[in-house]
Amino acid sequence: MTDFVTRFAPSPNGFLHLGHAFSALSAYRAAMDAGGRFLLRIEDIDTGRARPEFEAAIYDDLKWLGLEWEQPVRRQSDHFEDYTKAIASLSDRGLTYPCFCTRRDILTAGVEMGSDGPIYPGICRHLSAGEVVELIEEGQGFALRLRMDAAMEVIAHPLTWFERSSSEIAADPLSLGDVLLARKDIGTSYHISVVVDDALQGVTQIIRGRDLFEATPIHRLLQELLGLPEPHYHHHRLIEDDTGIRLAKSKGSPSLKDLREQGIKLATVIDALGLK
Ligand code: GLU
Repeated sequence: MTDFVTRFAPSPNGFLHLGHAFSALSAYRAAMDAGGRFLLRIEDIDTGRARPEFEAAIYDDLKWLGLEWEQPVRRQSDHFEDYTKAIASLSDRGLTYPCFCTRRDILTAGVEMGSDGPIYPGICRHLSAGEVVELIEEGQGFALRLRMDAAMEVIAHPLTWFERSSSEIAADPLSLGDVLLARKDIGTSYHISVVVDDALQGVTQIIRGRDLFEATPIHRLLQELLGLPEPHYHHHRLIEDDTGIRLAKSKGSPSLKDLREQGIKLATVIDALGLK
């Protein structure tokens, strides 16, 4: 047994498609080839969108793909306190600030687009302690954002990550602005939950799609700030359909459930994914 531990971490807010199958199979096969471990994690912090029927389909889809995973499966909605603790440790060091903005406030202020989405224009960054107390007393909800420049000052050495096939990559989270660490509605975020869980679960290899490449500088920064181990990364190619459009739930691509129910053979899927 090596210390190769990887995971597949889907969000149960829709049915999985071929892109997910490629991700899950890539991670599973890498673990088996290395004599390592394969974990499944259900990323359901977005409790407004996660649904039990999507989670149930994930298990059926993965079984159909011939995968086996360790039990128990970690379900993020059972662990909000772990994420709250991590965020509190950053807040205690003055690395976060409350943000009362609505989506509309941000759009009205005019946002620049960064490589990982819109860059927060800093509206709440300079609120005084008194203004914050007043807004809270008025009952205004707030999110928490990372004070990116202060966070980067804490990091004593160049921030990088190890990417399979291209070795070391420089991470530049500064250009992504004051990213959200705790959403107003759920008190956490994808970025925090994923780094906390990867560390808690001892994940050493993160194998996921190229679409998450731009999130990795943020994840590396959070790992350093929280004193978490540094995993290795492999951002794999994205699966395209015949029109060259990335398969995505929003584009109406066939789900794995559809393919299963149409009696499509697993071998056909493996072949379509360019896997042997
Ligand atoms: N839950 C994320 C998704 O479904 C993946 C997280 C990750 O692999 O880091 O896109």
